[in-house]
Amino acid sequence: MKEVAALRPRPNLVDYEGERARFDWDEARAELDGLPDGGVNIAHEAVDRHAAGERADRVALRFVRADGSTRSLTYRDLAAEIARFANVLAGLGVGRGERVYSLLGRMPMLYAAALGTLKHGAVFCPLFSAFGPEPVRQRFRIGSGRVLVTTRALYRRKVAPIRDELPSLRHVLLVDADGDPEPGTLDLAALLERAPTTAPTAPTDREDMALLHFTSGTTGRPKGAIHVHDAVAAHFATGRYALDLHPDDVYWCTADPGWVTGTSYGIIAPLVHGVTVVVDEEEMDVERWYRILGDQRVTVWYTAPTALRMLMKAGADRAAGHDLSALRFVASVGEPLNPEVVVWGRETLGLPVHDNWWQTETGGIMISNYPAMDIRPGSMGRPLPGIDAAVVARDEAGAPVVRDGEAVLCETDATGELALRPGWPSMFRGYLDEDERYRKCFAGGWYLTGDLARRDADGYFWFVGRGDDVIKSSGHLIGPFEVESCLMEHEAVAEAAVIGVPDPVAGEVVKAFVELKPGREASDELRLDLIGFARKRLGSAVAPRRLDFAASLPKTRSGKILRRLLKARELGLPEGDTSTLEAGR
Ligand code: ATP
Ligand code: MG
Repeated sequence: MKEVAALRPRPNLVDYEGERARFDWDEARAELDGLPDGGVNIAHEAVDRHAAGERADRVALRFVRADGSTRSLTYRDLAAEIARFANVLAGLGVGRGERVYSLLGRMPMLYAAALGTLKHGAVFCPLFSAFGPEPVRQRFRIGSGRVLVTTRALYRRKVAPIRDELPSLRHVLLVDADGDPEPGTLDLAALLERAPTTAPTAPTDREDMALLHFTSGTTGRPKGAIHVHDAVAAHFATGRYALDLHPDDVYWCTADPGWVTGTSYGIIAPLVHGVTVVVDEEEMDVERWYRILGDQRVTVWYTAPTALRMLMKAGADRAAGHDLSALRFVASVGEPLNPEVVVWGRETLGLPVHDNWWQTETGGIMISNYPAMDIRPGSMGRPLPGIDAAVVARDEAGAPVVRDGEAVLCETDATGELALRPGWPSMFRGYLDEDERYRKCFAGGWYLTGDLARRDADGYFWFVGRGDDVIKSSGHLIGPFEVESCLMEHEAVAEAAVIGVPDPVAGEVVKAFVELKPGREASDELRLDLIGFARKRLGSAVAPRRLDFAASLPKTRSGKILRRLLKARELGLPEGDTSTLEAGR
């Protein structure tokens, strides 16, 4: 078994071009263990190989309970739990490639279920535990879920009422049945108790389906992205380059387990690197988060702009008194990272905040401000080794321009669609049962991301907006991110969202929704002040013409502002699919 400790030293990406030139996906694959017959299995790479080597007694997962107490699982312990779960699946007759869903918070069983499913050769599909019955039904339909792992309370509220409408679902495993499972369910603890602590690893092939991930639903109807076992090579490489993971790290990822980040970087990437992963069993709370960072001596923290903005809103004094000296840097993902947040991180936490761009479809980080590279606040960074990114020109209708079979690329600093050259291991292999939708993502040799961006002369990429959020006003293409970031520089603003609303003259004009910092009162005077503030910095063509104050902004459960919903509400249109909308928004 290969030991992770023997890997190359900290990447020195100051030599960015050199490292890119040296990089080769087959070499990244070669640093994994692999299976005896030449295949690969994510569970083996993440846990079993550590459990069989020198890292067996290192803590793999450290759970922080509500009261702050912790319980830990070593790699050896985790390997045993995974094997038990795999054996339970085998006992139930679950076959290779069949889908095992989870509807669980961050608890030990989630990790055993995810990796046990992969070890068994079945496909793991996590759902947000906050989903109501309808989104659960929809996603079971799309993915033909065969097994569900959940809690009694979640089962009663979300699944039992629609059980008849889930024909594919054979086994519901309750993690907390306590010897008394609900009708139609099984007591998972009892099954695990009888299951052996070793199990064969399914001889999965690189291209075997491993994960089914539904996208955040920011644009509407959920898409089930298919990922394969080969993805682990990308989780490994990006864990090294973008998260700078080292075997002695204590790593914490705050992503919800129902979102792709919760699997790729909440489970797989850190475990493949053999680090200790801190898991907070509770929800976001400013005081608690600072306490965990300090008490658990977290060295690398992966979170999202929405969480960082919440810390900013709470005020700098909340960080005081917490010892963050172990923390090397903060990484962010999921939404554009406003420059203001980067500056705040440096000044208040004394830490760099590194942006990372990727999508459910890409399976792993694609563009990032590397820990070893100069951060340009407001930029997503540069493509990781092994990733080719470009900005593709769009025509009037927003379609990619293709000439002689090749997409036409934009000039430096011009806005177009962010595109990636297919071929990296964690690239999605399709949207389940939606071939046409999948095919439409490709043109002229590139995968089109649906996001708009610019590339500067030094190869840094700048996010402009989601293709569907971009505003066209008097012939200008306005990205909401730029306007929102500007508003956030105003001392009264905690968070901002910007949309286009129809205007007879300009086509569309910019409208902003602003959430104020605690203690600030909404007033006409402040409204004018904010509009004037933006106009001075952005010019009158780009600055918002209209501005409303909002108590809170609608967001997806993965923390993304739902501009689509703000717009629908503004225009009195149907709200569309809101299955991933955070409660109470
Ligand atoms: P759907 O595809 O269902 O509409 P979604 O695109 O929000 O939902 P995800 O795959 O979870 O689903 O999110 C990926 C998207 O999030 C990216 O395409 C981009 O728009 C946004 N995003 C992620 N990271 C960043 C970042 N660092 N900067 C800017 N945008 C980001
Ligand atoms: Mg998307």
